[in-house]
Amino acid sequence: MEGSPEQTLARVADALEGLLTGSIPDKLEYSGASGTDVENLCAAVNQLIDMQAEAREFMLSLSEGRLDADAPRGNFLISPFKQMQSNLRHLVWQTGRIAQGDLNQHVDFLGEFSDSFNSMIASLREKRAIEEALEASEKRLKDITSALGEGVYMLDSEGQLVFLNPAAERMLGWSEEELLGKTVHGIIHSRKPDGSRYPDDDCLALQTLESGMIVHVQDDIFIRKDDSVLPVSFISTPILEYGIVSGAVVAFHDITTRKNFQEALARANALLEQQATTDALTGIANRRRFDDALIKEISRAGRHSEPLSVVMLDIDHFKAVNDTYGHHVGDLVLTKLAQLVSALLRDEDLFARWGGEEFVVLLPQTPLAAGAEMAERLRRAVENDGFSSVDKLTCSFGVTSLGPDDDEKSLMERTDQALYKAKESGRNCVTAEECY
Ligand code: GH3
Ligand code: MG
Ligand code: MG
Repeated sequence: MEGSPEQTLARVADALEGLLTGSIPDKLEYSGASGTDVENLCAAVNQLIDMQAEAREFMLSLSEGRLDADAPRGNFLISPFKQMQSNLRHLVWQTGRIAQGDLNQHVDFLGEFSDSFNSMIASLREKRAIEEALEASEKRLKDITSALGEGVYMLDSEGQLVFLNPAAERMLGWSEEELLGKTVHGIIHSRKPDGSRYPDDDCLALQTLESGMIVHVQDDIFIRKDDSVLPVSFISTPILEYGIVSGAVVAFHDITTRKNFQEALARANALLEQQATTDALTGIANRRRFDDALIKEISRAGRHSEPLSVVMLDIDHFKAVNDTYGHHVGDLVLTKLAQLVSALLRDEDLFARWGGEEFVVLLPQTPLAAGAEMAERLRRAVENDGFSSVDKLTCSFGVTSLGPDDDEKSLMERTDQALYKAKESGRNCVTAEECY
């Protein structure tokens, strides 16, 4: 630096003023005598300029978020910022811990920021506590509904699934995750037991959402994920919030065992009923079934003013068949005769074994003349059939029709009388008896 000490001091003053306004002045050049105070002053001001430049560089790094910027050593201008750098780096680390779920962090610097930061962590802690409580209560709900062994699902007000318990998952083959948010009616309740489509409007579980009423269904089906049928009974209960239906809980029970049992029972009953109304030897109706049908047909004929005829037939000299060929052949003859007559009758006629070697035919909507004709047709058919094992077989026939004053007893007595007369008249013939 050239010039007088006054000029040098003036430059020093400019440089200091520049530093005070925050700019980085050019460094002072000194070329005067060494070891002077002026030289020392210039050196000190230059050192200050360097420190100011370093400080600015460092703070610029911090302001741009480069928290790992190296802090220059021995620069008192930046010592407070070094502390801030270290705090900010710790804050970054704390934030990372929080992101990993460690909510035990606390910030004690940066004033208002600390307050917001600390209250944010507090609400995160609260949220986590609520979530944990919720998870625990959901688990408890699942444990309870699972222990009951009942399938349970919950729908929101739109019929969308919001809950499915493990028992229901097992029974249906669907996981809760797969059905959450879906309208389950179309998935697990898509068809009726008869296989037809199940419209939403017919679904009693969904009707709970409309009506707010509890619905019990004893016998229905759900469809499993593999499309197989799950027989169920269920109860659908509305969930009410302030008097408004916000959803429904459906609890269902697998009734496969009950259904199987009921079906087996129904089959056994049908078999018993069949056995109770069928003649064991010939396989045609027995007298019990004939008696039931007679009551019904008499009543029906009366209601509709329709004719009704009854034919009774008895094998002629059947005792001789047994005596000659044995009881076993007698049985075969009875069976063959039953088949022969059955084949000649209409579907609506009822052919039954009256007892022994006597048979009866109930002919609805048939007047006496037509009944007699039918009897004659049967008589000829029996007479003309070889009956292979016996020489010749004939039957006698009595026919009558329902009169206005008849009941079952009088009608059958008159039929029997007609048969008796046929026997009296020499057998192998038909006798018709008018009603009185
Ligand atoms: P009619 O011409 O007067 O009717 O003479 P019938 O010999 O047929 O009459 P009767 O009443 O004397 O004999 C009926 C016979 O029918 C006697 C009985 O052993 C036989 N019978 C009844 N039920 C059965 C049966 O289930 N199997 C066999 N094999 N025979 C039977
Ligand atoms: Mg007889
Ligand atoms: Mg006989």
